[in-house]
Amino acid sequence: MKTLFLKVDPENPGPTKIQAAARIIQQGGLVAFPTETVYGLGADALNPAAVLALFEAKKRPLDNPPIVHVADPEEVCRLVEEVPPKGAVLMEKFWPGPLTLIFKRSNIVPQVTVAGLETVAIRMPKHKVALELIKQSRCPIAAPSANLAGKPSPTTAQHVYEDLNGRIDCILDGGATNIGVESTVVDLSVDPPMLLRPGGTPYEALKEVLEDLKLHPFVQAEQEISLHEVRSPGMKHKHYAPKAEVILVEGNVPAVIAKVKELAESYRLKSAKVGILATDETQVAYKADVVKSLGSRFNLAAVARNLFRLLREVDAENVDVIIAEGVSSEGLGLAVMNRLRKASGYRIIKTEE
Ligand code: AMP
Ligand code: MG
Repeated sequence: MKTLFLKVDPENPGPTKIQAAARIIQQGGLVAFPTETVYGLGADALNPAAVLALFEAKKRPLDNPPIVHVADPEEVCRLVEEVPPKGAVLMEKFWPGPLTLIFKRSNIVPQVTVAGLETVAIRMPKHKVALELIKQSRCPIAAPSANLAGKPSPTTAQHVYEDLNGRIDCILDGGATNIGVESTVVDLSVDPPMLLRPGGTPYEALKEVLEDLKLHPFVQAEQEISLHEVRSPGMKHKHYAPKAEVILVEGNVPAVIAKVKELAESYRLKSAKVGILATDETQVAYKADVVKSLGSRFNLAAVARNLFRLLREVDAENVDVIIAEGVSSEGLGLAVMNRLRKASGYRIIKTEE
């Protein structure tokens, strides 16, 4: 399959290229497009054959449903059984934006789109290209992240190209995404509502609006959870894994620096090629084959924005091991730490002074 690559201005996409992409969606094809979080791989959410092709292109397990994207909160009504009052409050306050809500689904949503579940995950993105594509396609768009399953999510069209060129119909290139981690997922099919995946909307901001919101234990898990604790299918799948082994070092900064140095040295003695994911404040402390900074420890939004790109960049250097520093779990840090822990396969070293 030849993948059509179309560059668009993220602020002013214009009608022509979006219309071409929308036609592909309407014909059951697959289009990768930028959102404010990461790039999504879109298909008509109400066309079962198109959604099945989407799983195949990504090599995504069929039991892990995508998020359905809408361009207008009104569109939610026909996709769900009901919008509970707490859902209405969250939509009013956080849409468009990086927040996905889980509702009991209506019968028009095909089985494959929800992986046979009784619920559906819906989000209204805040990105002109994404919104225009959904509007022009005149259907809700099912869109998981536009990477091969298990790889770090794509934050540029180039990342999508690396993973999916020749496997999908079209890539809309709207530049690098702004938030860099996926949306926060909140389950409203249960009461009290439960945060299943931390992401671009901070837990603290949601909690201000929804006092009884609970964090699923998996969000901060430091080891793999057992299957009976799984609430979101995505929880049990391998994620964000570079080719290299990843070790995450958590703790206070001086102790983290000491531990990262010690690990880097022990791998060097074994002739391993070592990559370090440091921060602006700590990177000068290290000598290794590859040292990159995630950003400042005091700017967790920047760390979130850089995270997936840097995991890919360090991996592309063919290192044997990536030693990553942990950051604070406040704000966007909760999403960053959740992704780093998963990327490490829960190889986490806690340090103390
Ligand atoms: P992605 O589309 O790659 O951002 O992943 C979507 C995430 O939402 C995955 O972790 C899914 O498991 C989760 N998800 C999608 N639909 C549901 C649902 N109905 N119930 C719980 N989690 C869901
Ligand atoms: Mg994904």
